[in-house]
Amino acid sequence: MTFLSIRHLSKSYDFHVALHDFSLELARGEFLSIVGESGSGKSTLLRMIAGLMVQSGGEVFLGENLIENPAQKLVPGYDEIKLIHQDYQLFPNSTVEENINRPLLQFDTKYREQRVNRLLIQFGLENYKDRLPRQLSGGQQQKVAIAQALAVEPEVLLLDEPFSHLDAIQKRKLIFELKELLKEMGTTVIFVTHDLDDALRLTDSLLILQKGKVVQKGNSKDLCEHPKSRYVARLFSPINLIPDRFNSYLRPADVRLRTRGELMGHVVDLRYLVHYNSLLIRLREGGHIWEVDDPIRKYQVGDRVYLHFDEEKVLVLKS
Ligand code: ADP
Ligand code: MG
Repeated sequence: MTFLSIRHLSKSYDFHVALHDFSLELARGEFLSIVGESGSGKSTLLRMIAGLMVQSGGEVFLGENLIENPAQKLVPGYDEIKLIHQDYQLFPNSTVEENINRPLLQFDTKYREQRVNRLLIQFGLENYKDRLPRQLSGGQQQKVAIAQALAVEPEVLLLDEPFSHLDAIQKRKLIFELKELLKEMGTTVIFVTHDLDDALRLTDSLLILQKGKVVQKGNSKDLCEHPKSRYVARLFSPINLIPDRFNSYLRPADVRLRTRGELMGHVVDLRYLVHYNSLLIRLREGGHIWEVDDPIRKYQVGDRVYLHFDEEKVLVLKS
């Protein structure tokens, strides 16, 4: 059953269309990542869902209720829908505990104490409760921000690239913890990011946005194996154009290297990466440069190699 319903939402800034006819239905507790390059309209979308920006057209419903925009509602925004962004500001002179307590001031003391304690435990922040934000790591600060947003038990959490300031290790850890926690709470989550890798770690369900338009929606495996355009395909990995074939591409992981065959090239560069060597190979035909994974780290710069692939791995991408 639909819980959050976004119907034909659009936004233009002067004559620039930032979001075009965006519709989406989410069930309660569902997780979705929206991936798109910078400027594709992600923040605009989330601000309108949260009732923090006046749309040019369309509407948002939470259950039966219309989300009113700042022109319709005296105090913009809703307790039920919380938006967290990269530069989310904690109160610098308040402790962790006080920060999390802030949104709860209208509730009675006993409830507040219980709620704050529970969040401190859930986020593993008990030992930090008396610290000020500047005495925490970036990851911990972001946790406090999210705990603060969850204090009033919002039904929908909108995450606008909240991990951008964190290093890769902090980020992975926080995404993992957050995923468990939010599932447990039954929160409905929309996560927007330009980083497909982060999206894959948080959700199975993806929506790809390009220049304010939805270009594809589905689960991660489906999108990786059956991208509808080069833009979607390239979010997952580089793609190599097959010589003399129109619109036909291969991913670096789908090319096999042999010592004989038809399609010949030379290794011109080699990068040692965690799970494989990444090779740049100059094809004899047409001088194309291909990026190819060498998982057994067999080849060196200068080697002559022959490239093989299965026909079923070929991506035909017309746009
Ligand atoms: P994203 O979050 O995906 O980077 P945004 O929603 O911030 O994208 O922006 C979408 C488009 O709208 C961009 O081209 C951006 O330049 C434009 N835009 C965003 N905010 C404004 C604004 N206040 N005034 C004019 N143009 C804006
Ligand atoms: Mg943005």
